[in-house]
Amino acid sequence: MFLRNLYNLRVIKYTMNKYIQNISSEMRLLAKHFNYSERTTLNRMRCNKEDPFRILVSCLLSLRTQDKNTEKASNMLFAEADMPRKIIALPMKKLEKLIYSSGHYKKKSRVLKSVSKEILTRFNGKVPNTEEELLSIKGVGRKTANIVLSFAFCQQVLPIDTHCHRIPNRLGWVKTKTPEKTEFALREILPKKYWMEFNGIFVLFGKTICQPISPWCSKCPIQKYCPRINVKRSR
Ligand code: SF4
Repeated sequence: MFLRNLYNLRVIKYTMNKYIQNISSEMRLLAKHFNYSERTTLNRMRCNKEDPFRILVSCLLSLRTQDKNTEKASNMLFAEADMPRKIIALPMKKLEKLIYSSGHYKKKSRVLKSVSKEILTRFNGKVPNTEEELLSIKGVGRKTANIVLSFAFCQQVLPIDTHCHRIPNRLGWVKTKTPEKTEFALREILPKKYWMEFNGIFVLFGKTICQPISPWCSKCPIQKYCPRINVKRSR
């Protein structure tokens, strides 16, 4: 009973938000303008096109770097080692050299080693397909877990990076301080049919138009719907 009341309160809270009234129109317009499917290394791996372990590794390599660096590091690494036991067998120095272009290569090498070891020993070499199991692996955070669930296993989840957090706040869809809170708020208001495409569209939208500093509002396809919350400067 308590949970049911809590759920109803949350629904009322979100449906009172006037900025989400056009959420479907905005998503349709964005989908038309931002064809993400072939645009990033990870998006090219989507849904059965790639081994889940490669998706997990590319996601770990993509943290805090540009896509071109992720692609280069992934290709260099997979040419030598594309499964947990091969990454474990690589000498540390060699692993660092292979993924050097992704930046933070020392830390990422340590993470790749320990993640590979856990997958081999705890999951028999197979990347697990539940949020709980993925999050139980040291070095795998919420965004990475959701990328793997969405991209490798085609599950309806919401991977939230900096763009996916910033833009819904500018649009007034949510009022949140962290990507994690954005994820939970979006789950309440974004119709499920948009969940699969949300990350791809918003990453591309955030990189090209709704940029962190001085977004291109004059070129934005959803400008007429946007209250531009906390946007101090725009072009
Ligand atoms: S109008 Fe400007 S702030 Fe609003 S979504 Fe478009 S680019 Fe971003």
